[in-house]
Amino acid sequence: MNSRLVGFFIWRALCGALALAVATRSSYAHPVSISRALVYVRPDEITAEIEVFLEDLYLFHTLRTDSRDYLSATEIGRGIQLHRQFIAERFQILDIDGRPLVSKLDSTTWQPPASGVPLAELMDHQLTFSLRFDLDEAPEFLTFVQKFTDGGAVLPSEMTLHVQQEQQPESEPVALRPHEPYILRLRWDGPPLSMGDGREQQVAWLVKAKQETLGISSYSSTYSFLYVENRQVRHEILIPLQTLLLDLPIEHEHRDFLSPEEQRGAAAVVGDYFAKGLPVRINGATVEAKFEKCDFFGLATKDFARDANDRDVSLANGRVGVILSYRCPAFPETVSMSWNRFTESMWAVDVVILAGDRIEKRTLSRVGNRQQLEWESPLPHRVVPFSPLRANDLPQSLSLSWTAILGFDIAILIWLVGWRILRPRLTKSPSTPAVFAAAVVALVVGWFAHSRIWQSDPISTAEAAQIFAPLHRNVYRAFECPTDGEVYDALALCVDGELLEHVYRQIHQSLDMQDQGGAIAHVTSVDVSDGTVQQTVHARSEPSFYYVCQWDVAGNIEHWGHLHERRQRYVASFRLNVINGYWRITHWDVLDEQPLGTTVTVREFSR
Ligand SMILES: [Zn+2]
Repeated sequence: MNSRLVGFFIWRALCGALALAVATRSSYAHPVSISRALVYVRPDEITAEIEVFLEDLYLFHTLRTDSRDYLSATEIGRGIQLHRQFIAERFQILDIDGRPLVSKLDSTTWQPPASGVPLAELMDHQLTFSLRFDLDEAPEFLTFVQKFTDGGAVLPSEMTLHVQQEQQPESEPVALRPHEPYILRLRWDGPPLSMGDGREQQVAWLVKAKQETLGISSYSSTYSFLYVENRQVRHEILIPLQTLLLDLPIEHEHRDFLSPEEQRGAAAVVGDYFAKGLPVRINGATVEAKFEKCDFFGLATKDFARDANDRDVSLANGRVGVILSYRCPAFPETVSMSWNRFTESMWAVDVVILAGDRIEKRTLSRVGNRQQLEWESPLPHRVVPFSPLRANDLPQSLSLSWTAILGFDIAILIWLVGWRILRPRLTKSPSTPAVFAAAVVALVVGWFAHSRIWQSDPISTAEAAQIFAPLHRNVYRAFECPTDGEVYDALALCVDGELLEHVYRQIHQSLDMQDQGGAIAHVTSVDVSDGTVQQTVHARSEPSFYYVCQWDVAGNIEHWGHLHERRQRYVASFRLNVINGYWRITHWDVLDEQPLGTTVTVREFSR
């Protein structure tokens, strides 16, 4: 016995009782081809044992019986040779790119009774065919396909597939129907899980697995993400190519692959298929779908935001990502969608609806008339209007500062001195109304001196921050506006005209996440710190100051059920001026810029 197979046989022995139970039960319940595959995966080799009933040989190769209705030992021997070839061709394990691994077939050790086997007892005999597949490296993905019966067969073959990875917890068997691939992801880096591992370690292992696949952990399911935003509703659909092909034939020259050219040719057809099959209404009105893109992906793709369609994609394990968008006539209060694109192998689909921070999941099904999705906005959502900053709204310009008091004092002094000079011989004190009138005049003169002439107060750090922060915040908020025109209008409320173009380009560039398909990030926070006033400029009517500060911007983009957040730090020098009574940023010079890191989070939804 090959010593490398010891592990496999130990595991097989453990499964033996179950296999026997399945076989015995099946022999009475189901006379059609039922087989069992026990697959053991090591980093450098896969071994598979395919167990079939003797009846399969009779059915698939039309063996001849003798006059007693017996299959002779010779005829069975012929059947075994034919079935070896049959299994080698029709049981396939595909690599990550959908290419079949080369198998080596070991001969079966089963010997038929010399007298042959009566036809009525064919289901009482099981044969095992052993296959070996050499691997160049530990596989991340394996795709299993059995084609024992042709597609559309009245009585399709069924296989119970049990895949066990070396040094991993015992796995569960799955049912493998003909021509319906089963895709498995394997991890080799993580520590093996055993009964002795703590709960914490197991949870950490699962979280890591989820993060590695960005939450898309099933390779046979269809995913649907519906993003409800201010400007649009966006629908992202990820469907196994195999599932799509059941309802939408796509021309392809190669039997097992779609070429890049064929993918590009099919993109619009697939888009149209979903656009027509998933009608959407927003606020009660039907909105036409805009086809954004359609890409074909292999198993290696984790983030479906990337452009694809540049390499062959396997029909067995390829996936198709489609994005449709629907322009909102106003902020979406209600969204409804009808799913009319179920296939023979997809009877239900989970639609995840993401609206701001709120995430929910709805299951649509062709069974029980549950094809309709109805969503209602839970909260009234409006964009907070921009508010330009009036110069005289500021606390420091309304307060009686020391210059105002000094001005008042000087005015009083001037009045008293003047009164003494002009009225030298007058000994009587001025009347109360006269003093009161003089005080009012002095106050007005002092106030005037403070606000219109001297303006000599250096602006404090706290005051500067009060002016700067809202203007700076509005610059980023402007980019939430749906059109460029509206972005400029909003920017004009906080940035001087000559600087508009410069600021627009600078912010737009900083939010443009080229590494994520050029999506524009949504800013979630802007934190200003370390602000210092460099210089206060004294002007009669339009005060200004120079300000240097640091700020961190967090922005995110969200697609395919996960969220990218990027943080960036900036240091810049600004000048702020009062123009026509309102504060505006008139100078913006970035002194330093550094990335603080990017995180990817898989979104959780309420069930
Ligand atoms: Zn992404």
